[in-house]
Amino acid sequence: MRAQMWNGKWVTKLGAFASASVLLCSQSAVAEDLLLQNVAIVSPELREPARNRHVLIRGERIVQISAKALAAPNAKRIDARGLYLTPGVMDSHVHVSTPPGLPLGADDPTLVALNAAYVRQQPRSYLYFGVTQVIDLAGVAEGVAAFEAQPLRPDLFRCGAAVVLNGYPMALFDTSVRLRVFPDYVFEPANAAAHPLPAGEDPAKHTPEAVVEAIAARGARCVKVFIEDGFGERSDWPLMSTATLKRVQAAARKHHLLLVAHANAIDMQRMAVALPVDVLAHGLWNWNEYRAKEGVPEAIAQHLRLIHTRKIGLQPTLRVLPGIADLFRADTLQDPVYAKVVPPALLAWYGSEAGQWFKREMQRDFGGAPDAKIAQVNLSTNDQNMRSVRFLNKLGHPLLLGSDTPSAPTYGNQPGYDTYREMRSMAQAGVPLRAILEAATLNNARQFGLEKDYGTVEAGKIANLLLLKTNPLESVQAWADIERVILHGRVIERETLAADH
Ligand SMILES: [Zn+2]
Repeated sequence: MRAQMWNGKWVTKLGAFASASVLLCSQSAVAEDLLLQNVAIVSPELREPARNRHVLIRGERIVQISAKALAAPNAKRIDARGLYLTPGVMDSHVHVSTPPGLPLGADDPTLVALNAAYVRQQPRSYLYFGVTQVIDLAGVAEGVAAFEAQPLRPDLFRCGAAVVLNGYPMALFDTSVRLRVFPDYVFEPANAAAHPLPAGEDPAKHTPEAVVEAIAARGARCVKVFIEDGFGERSDWPLMSTATLKRVQAAARKHHLLLVAHANAIDMQRMAVALPVDVLAHGLWNWNEYRAKEGVPEAIAQHLRLIHTRKIGLQPTLRVLPGIADLFRADTLQDPVYAKVVPPALLAWYGSEAGQWFKREMQRDFGGAPDAKIAQVNLSTNDQNMRSVRFLNKLGHPLLLGSDTPSAPTYGNQPGYDTYREMRSMAQAGVPLRAILEAATLNNARQFGLEKDYGTVEAGKIANLLLLKTNPLESVQAWADIERVILHGRVIERETLAADH
């Protein structure tokens, strides 16, 4: 299934886009003391909501939680009676340097302006949906810097991409930009006949050890490898050999980095699980020759049991294929939520002839099939992902919330909204609301070594919190029913974050 691809021209001008939007502001200004009164705390370490609690926040951290009223004479007070306080949502699979639906690379001033508008709105859209921490699993340096230059933004953590020379996703980019977009490629001497080292490149910088060292030196928390030989009918992209994967793994361990793998087909995931990697960046939706009328076939079940016993983290990314299918629905851009997360000019452009370029590209890939057919193929493949996720949940496997926004240049994935839609899809797949709460908070914090600061509502943690109008243990829609977002102790009215504000 062709599900995750980028246009080769997509990033040529990213540097120009990024530098145009740098703002010299900081979100770390010290907030005054904040006292939340009479709130019901919903947090993964609590068996049930802790009602009528008083939460004192000093600076950027929670300092005290009490069942009794707190004095705190100088604090700003919020009477939160009737509201639910949760940890801010962590989305552990995003790509902040790739704007959904925009063909980067054109000099066209319209596109440059649209991108600049996106760069300004993107972090606000995440916050609009309560996403206060993101992990960028493979970003282009300039785009990540532009995100971090925005005055209000979720806390950002990063992985570095260790791609094999000319393999996925490097293979999707024009040869002229490949080395700039993926500086950390691994050269395999055994593959030199088909994929020779580019002229002027130093082989010593492209061993697995040197690449992982460079990624670690730039402050990444994880290394991402891509186990993907092709989408749909194709399977001709070079894969990293098992010996090289093992060297990447050893180097990652040496630098205390997690090893994350892109893999969504059973043959590719088997390689990842054999290593084993620490995290799978996708659910299992491509079952190759295996089929089942309901549930999962035994061969798939065996593989999923292995993921569980080896304690491999898994991001279902249930929105990847529906995000493609959304291009082929007539009502996607009429969804009223789009006006909240997409800048008005960009939303108008998506609906224009030019804005439909990726849809046309997908139509060609599907041999000109009707829209409804293309949507249905994507959704029925995703049904296999839903069944895999349900099976894993029944095993008691802790899932990780990761939306993969955007997984492709489709306007069907939007920041924040897709994190929420990912949670909604998990609920549709049969994952209980408590497991969704855990996936969105503590599981991600634990998996990525961020538990000291994030993941629960407890004294000592960073005050990245949400005030919800309804209980997220009663309906998944509560995660979109946000009254206020608290970011490092600073209270933000939700509507001020909207793109149409
Ligand atoms: Zn991704």
